[in-house]
Amino acid sequence: MMITKEMKEMAFTSPNEQGYYGKFGGAYIPEMLHRNVEELRLNYLNIMYEASFQKEFQQLLKDYVGRPTPLFLAERLSKTFNTQIYLKREDLNHTGAHKINNAIGQVLLAQRLGKKRIIAETGAGQHGVATATVCALKGIECVVYMGEKDIERQAPNVARMKMLGAKVVPATSGSKTLKDATNEAIRAWINDPLDTHYIIGSVVGPHPYPDMVARFQSVISEETRWQLKEKTGSELPTHVIACVGGGSNAAGAFYHFLEEKEVQLVAVEAAGHGISSGLSAATTQLGKPGVLHGSKSLVMQTEDGQVVEPHSISAGLDYPGIGPLHAHLFESGRGLFLSATDEEALDAAFELSKLEGIIPALESAHALSALKQIQFKESDVVVLCLSGRGDKDLATYMNELERRG
Ligand SMILES: *Cc1c(COP(=O)(O)O)cnc(C)c1O
Repeated sequence: MMITKEMKEMAFTSPNEQGYYGKFGGAYIPEMLHRNVEELRLNYLNIMYEASFQKEFQQLLKDYVGRPTPLFLAERLSKTFNTQIYLKREDLNHTGAHKINNAIGQVLLAQRLGKKRIIAETGAGQHGVATATVCALKGIECVVYMGEKDIERQAPNVARMKMLGAKVVPATSGSKTLKDATNEAIRAWINDPLDTHYIIGSVVGPHPYPDMVARFQSVISEETRWQLKEKTGSELPTHVIACVGGGSNAAGAFYHFLEEKEVQLVAVEAAGHGISSGLSAATTQLGKPGVLHGSKSLVMQTEDGQVVEPHSISAGLDYPGIGPLHAHLFESGRGLFLSATDEEALDAAFELSKLEGIIPALESAHALSALKQIQFKESDVVVLCLSGRGDKDLATYMNELERRG
């Protein structure tokens, strides 16, 4: 199934002309970025649905990323929860997670806009690695901004990016983490608007980024529909479950089910040490409407609007906001929002490893943990987006194995 421009009319699938999903979204940007963002807004749909773009995009997804990713009936896991659980294996993508889908889409788009240079921000380094990978493939200059503290914490991903030919620039202001890296990237974009494209790694940022990234990731649910039809005779599951940091793997896994009201969409946030512990990243539970990184959404903030430092054991979910589509899914009741603590996610990661021989990313383990929180029927068909593989989290798993003895 192709995503068409007509899907613009649908309630959840597309934001309105100004980029709003309900009351969330928009483009809150400094004057100096207007030209870049406007250029993107006016061109992204035309470029994305142009035949030669689709041909190149689909070809790379197939031959370079390894798509379609399998939809795997996890039998021992299903037995444990007395239902039918299918894992959408985004962990088998090249570079180990779903982020490459978006990186390829945006690099191809940047080339068609005549851009010569790619910049990106990264926290844990997963989005930076995906971006550096595609830039290497296409021979494009790549600069990744990363907080100085994250550079120390995420040494293997820094090494990967460098090996792939990207320049990694430390952000040395503020808390020296993702938020500061984002500020640096925006500054760099303002300084070189003509030749540079800024790749955002999730369904966040000013319009049109949330919609554009959701469309590139929607390949996940597009495949799920026909794969499910082959396996069960129906394209529709009863539940789709995904973890939410900014929300891109969830947006991709939900996309082609957004207008199918009988499909229960389940988003799982990181509760960290517990929702009310002060060390959490459960944005829908703790956040209030506010503007973060260029769009209006739910944001974890103090009374006077200072962004609260989030916490999660998984770097990919350690974000104080959530994409505007998800804020809308939450507010409208279309999506069910659950959360899992660090401990619960670790339990789920160990469980999946033992039951199915699949070591999941810590982010994906949050989605797995939600299986315990829902009362399934035996006849239910549950699709769970396994957003990434656990190789990058091995140090955390090793410490935990030691602690548990
Ligand atoms: C980055 C990442 C996430 C979180 O990002 P979303 O935009 O919410 O999908 C989840 N899982 C993995 C494996 C990641 O690398």
